[in-house]
Amino acid sequence: MKYNRLGDLLISVGLITQEQLDFALEQQRQTKNRLGQVLIQENVITEQQLIDALRLQLGVEFIDLADHIPEARLAAMVPKATAERFGVVPVKAEQDTIYLAMSDPLNFMAIEAVKATSRKRIIPMISTIRGIEHAMLGLYGNEDATRAIEEMQRERSAAPQAQAAVTTAAAAAADNTAPTVRLVNSIIERGALDGASDIHIEPGEGDLHIRMRVDGVMRTMMFVPRDLQATVLSRLKIMGGMDVTERRVPQDGRAGFTAKNREFDMRMSTLPTIFGEKLVIRLLEKNSGLLHKDKIGLSHEDMRKYLNLISRPSGMVLIVGPTGSGKSSTMYTMINELNSQQINLVTLEDPVEYNVSGISQVQINEKTGLTFAGGLRSILRQDPDIIAVGEIRDSETAQIAMRAAITGHLVLSTLHTNDAFATLDRLVDIGVEPYIIAGALNGIISQRLVRRICPDCRMACKPGPEELLSLGLDQQAVPQVYRGTGCPACAGTGYLGRTGVFEILILSHALRLAISGGYNREEMEEIIRREGRFIPMANRVRELVLAGVTTVEEARRTVFVAGEL
Ligand SMILES: [Zn+2]
Repeated sequence: MKYNRLGDLLISVGLITQEQLDFALEQQRQTKNRLGQVLIQENVITEQQLIDALRLQLGVEFIDLADHIPEARLAAMVPKATAERFGVVPVKAEQDTIYLAMSDPLNFMAIEAVKATSRKRIIPMISTIRGIEHAMLGLYGNEDATRAIEEMQRERSAAPQAQAAVTTAAAAAADNTAPTVRLVNSIIERGALDGASDIHIEPGEGDLHIRMRVDGVMRTMMFVPRDLQATVLSRLKIMGGMDVTERRVPQDGRAGFTAKNREFDMRMSTLPTIFGEKLVIRLLEKNSGLLHKDKIGLSHEDMRKYLNLISRPSGMVLIVGPTGSGKSSTMYTMINELNSQQINLVTLEDPVEYNVSGISQVQINEKTGLTFAGGLRSILRQDPDIIAVGEIRDSETAQIAMRAAITGHLVLSTLHTNDAFATLDRLVDIGVEPYIIAGALNGIISQRLVRRICPDCRMACKPGPEELLSLGLDQQAVPQVYRGTGCPACAGTGYLGRTGVFEILILSHALRLAISGGYNREEMEEIIRREGRFIPMANRVRELVLAGVTTVEEARRTVFVAGEL
């Protein structure tokens, strides 16, 4: 029987009950997470309550790691493996003392382990779990990569010159213990844990440039010396199951990756450039938290409409927006919501981004003739209830999908247009008869993604008059807006994470009549005004600016300056 000190302390101060502790310990056995983490995740206590209790009861000092990146020399005193194993990070050191940030200062095993490796006195400090993760990333982030690069260069200079570069690269890349493997893994891990959607490996005139896209914006991760370029690319191509010797034609590959117990799917593609192959990795987390309707940013009113649209047995729902506006995430959210044993749900996708269990997902393959239109016809012969079509790109697909929607199927799809009217214009343009659109379409969800202000460095500021004017806001009514000043938590960008901004048009009987009667736009606008249920995206993003969720600039960039499609 393991005696748990943290649990006992929390019971003694009255924060949790014995039953709650027993429940949390049972959860902990299953998830292997730390007890404090389990209690927070299960909403038994907040992290602040936990920190306050430990601070007051133990007299341990709190350290805010949002503004603190530990000095590099500390990495040598506490190895990364120890820090990761116990979830601790050294934050400062004096002659014979290390100050150790911990989320559980009662974890004596951790203190003993650090004491043993560093041979110094340990003073525990308390910090948030997130603060510790950030400090760890700051302290150890590129450490593995740097060490691996040094080793690779040493090996290279020792290798005989006569050996062909390709052979060396391929051999080194196939050896699992090689520093190349460690370098490549640390690059992918860094991207995965920093929340990158893509990692770009770009050969240039000088070094190999490694960048990642986080919350829609690119940032540099590191540079790898040019002489290691071939080895790094070979290793990645082996991981992705690509042909290592072929460097002149674009290739695609796939692989899985696990970082800190989180599983990722990697989709890789290469492109021959004048300086060598450029490789891009798209990272997709399996079972990512994005797939719940409560988390995509729907307002109360939009949620009502969203549920209305997906609860109908037939008809089409279109999700529209420019590239990178989160259309496919919203579609997966719907698929997840609709997935049940009682229905036959089939998807046609290009590419299949997430594997969802319990449904049939079909990958489009133009080369073998499996097109959207052809696939859709085959699916209709397989008794489907719900069909999700990744994207409507052509007239034939649009026609078949619309007919399926009219004949008793719920059809979900996306279209690359700006808003509801642009969508109707496009459908008419590609030759779908207005009366078919009127009969098939239940609603159009237009969406954008805006970056959220980082909560760790958010501050209020006075907006300029022209700023407010550009959002259609009155200066007298808006004393302040918000922005992030930049901190380690957000890598200095002032933003952390994104949220969807939606506008949902549900086709009423009157709107259907207006569409089938020749699609008169003025008439439709008048009906929408009269019905009074449509909330434009601009209103919603103004609310987000005033509530301090996002900035004026971000609102302008994504919603007001619509951008060319
Ligand atoms: Zn920040």
